[in-house]
Amino acid sequence: MLSWFFADACWLETARERRIVAWSGLAPDFDVLAYAGAIVYYQLDKDMAFEKVWSVVHHRYTHGIAFILLTGIVAWLLARGPNRARVALLAIAASALHNFLDVVAGGPTWPIYPVWPLSDFGWTANWSWTLADWPNHVVLFGCLGATILYARIAGRSPVEAFGDRADRWFADVAQQKTATTPAAGGRRIVVRAIIWIAVILLVVAAFAPLGFNLG
Ligand SMILES: [Zn+2]
Repeated sequence: MLSWFFADACWLETARERRIVAWSGLAPDFDVLAYAGAIVYYQLDKDMAFEKVWSVVHHRYTHGIAFILLTGIVAWLLARGPNRARVALLAIAASALHNFLDVVAGGPTWPIYPVWPLSDFGWTANWSWTLADWPNHVVLFGCLGATILYARIAGRSPVEAFGDRADRWFADVAQQKTATTPAAGGRRIVVRAIIWIAVILLVVAAFAPLGFNLG
């Protein structure tokens, strides 16, 4: 979400360019596939998968200069037209920003490896907050709110990363555009209800580990 806003703020004109930069900002976390594979490999033993694979792999190979440069190359190959170099540079910046934010918000015990494979130096900050800490919830809900608000105002949003049709549809819902047929109107009410239920469930899920103790 953040990297889409970043792309939009950098005056990228086409949906394709914004989409490339948005996914580049998410790209370092593709190592989650290794965790998914490990869960299957260890026959759904999540603790085993975490210990043997996730705690070793996550942040190591895809959270550093090598992967950032790779992201830039892929972005350059995917981009079209005169803006290719700019898209590639912004993709690199989005990927680097992801890494930095992982240091800030990933907790002091989970380093990233900025110069792998040149060195195994792990970078942490002892002032960083952990994943379950409240600032991460604030950021998450801030982004969700900004997405809905921005879709309402600008008629586009980070949903664009999933395709033009999805984005158009989401903007229509956010802008409460009148549906052209009663059936479409009914569908939209159902969709809106689903969105709100999902948001509420997310809030509950996010705050449950804190024991709802916000004071
Ligand atoms: Zn990450």
